[in-house]
Amino acid sequence: MTAVPTVVIVGRPNVGKSTLFNRIVGGRQAIVHNRAGVTRDRHFQLTDWAGKSFWLVDTGGWLPGDPDAFTRGIRRQVELAVADADAIVFVVDTKEGPHPADEEVAELLRSIKDRVVLAANKADNLPEVTGHHEFYRLGLGEPVPVSSTTGKGSGDLLDRLVTLLPGHVRREPEEEIATQVAVIGRPNVGKSSIVNCLLGQERTLVTPVAGTTRDAVDSPLRYRDETLNFIDTAGLRRRSKVEDEVEFYSALRTERALQRAHVAVLVVDAAEGINTQDLKIAESAWSEGKALIVAVNKWDLVKEKDTATARRGWSAAVERAPFLKAVPFVFVSAETGQRVRKILDLILQVAAQRRVRIPTSEVNRILEQLVQRNQPPQKGGEEVKLLYASQIGIAPPSFAIVSNRPDAIPEAYRRYLVNGFRAAWKFEGSPIRLKFTRRKKTPPK
Ligand code: GDP
Ligand code: GDP
Repeated sequence: MTAVPTVVIVGRPNVGKSTLFNRIVGGRQAIVHNRAGVTRDRHFQLTDWAGKSFWLVDTGGWLPGDPDAFTRGIRRQVELAVADADAIVFVVDTKEGPHPADEEVAELLRSIKDRVVLAANKADNLPEVTGHHEFYRLGLGEPVPVSSTTGKGSGDLLDRLVTLLPGHVRREPEEEIATQVAVIGRPNVGKSSIVNCLLGQERTLVTPVAGTTRDAVDSPLRYRDETLNFIDTAGLRRRSKVEDEVEFYSALRTERALQRAHVAVLVVDAAEGINTQDLKIAESAWSEGKALIVAVNKWDLVKEKDTATARRGWSAAVERAPFLKAVPFVFVSAETGQRVRKILDLILQVAAQRRVRIPTSEVNRILEQLVQRNQPPQKGGEEVKLLYASQIGIAPPSFAIVSNRPDAIPEAYRRYLVNGFRAAWKFEGSPIRLKFTRRKKTPPK
């Protein structure tokens, strides 16, 4: 499993970038990154075409109120895109024709033109349009006419685009058996400090060079005879001077890293505690079936007398997000190195918990006990019965419970069983799944 490639849409405002984005991702719910101070929301979404998956990123905002913001904003976006993307869709407007800002963008893209598709948008009257020919002079190859509002030409555009994406997914045997770890969290909580600390202080992380880091740079680490692969450690290092860009790329990085991860290490700042955004990240990792650890960093800054306060902050977080009760917390300092190696032990533990298999007889023994203690609530009609259960999958552990009336089992009772399963087998740091299925009718003889 390697990183899914990233495609970034660039272009000056109003050429139809977000219209094209929506056209390509179709009905999928985009991940919205909105922040006060930028002109509009920015989106990224995992999508696919012709069997190839890729992240599509719609760059949008520039800083308002700055006379040069227009060009500077675009310049920064294009530079970031060049450093970050496997392919770039450069959108221009055929109704307006080439614009000086298009020339500027083209200038930045010319050296990597083999990764660029020039989308000549607003070609609404395809095939009877010629306006796109004018854009040949940008020196980026053949412009592809497209109408984002009607969708005409978008198939051809996508066909062209996916030929630029890395072909076969490289499958390295090492990666198959390695535990994939995503270190996630808000900017400045100390993610890269922790990873540096784990990889050994003297080993500095590779600094990505624009155009050469199309694949996320991972850092593998051997620990207790296992390989832990820290996903996209280069991405942790990537910095932008503009706060909004930092947040946006950090959100994008998190999604990309999580998608490949088995284990997520959520880093939070001890002084700030777990805030709403942290909970959102944690919840998303958990619901995607990733094992989770919370590393409360900068513990060196917490005064002795504040320790109780910090722990109270933890209880408050658990109250808001009860699933955190099953998640191990570790209080660390990347600065002093205190307890940082404990993170490695926890990663191995939660990764193992995520792959636990419970024998069917044992699953049924516990189920029977739970049902005896607390029967499923009865609704009108046939008696609701839980017949038997088995584990149907790992990573995360998933169970199916066969019932005569699976639809009649309320959520509260499902939670009761999940808690009962956890009490029996722990699954510390791993989500578990539980579904009710209908008894198969015995086929007539
Ligand atoms: P962005 O600022 O580059 O993201 O541009 P938007 O996607 O917000 O589009 C700017 C304007 O152009 C909107 O009014 C769109 O409806 C319009 N637009 C986008 N694509 C097309 C197209 O293919 N044809 C026409 N006629 N209008 C379009
Ligand atoms: P990232 O954006 O999450 O990767 O955060 P960094 O690792 O770049 O750290 C952000 C800032 O916090 C840097 O100035 C670090 O030196 C500082 N920092 C990181 N970990 C600790 C820690 O455990 N204690 C203290 N006091 N500072 C830390």
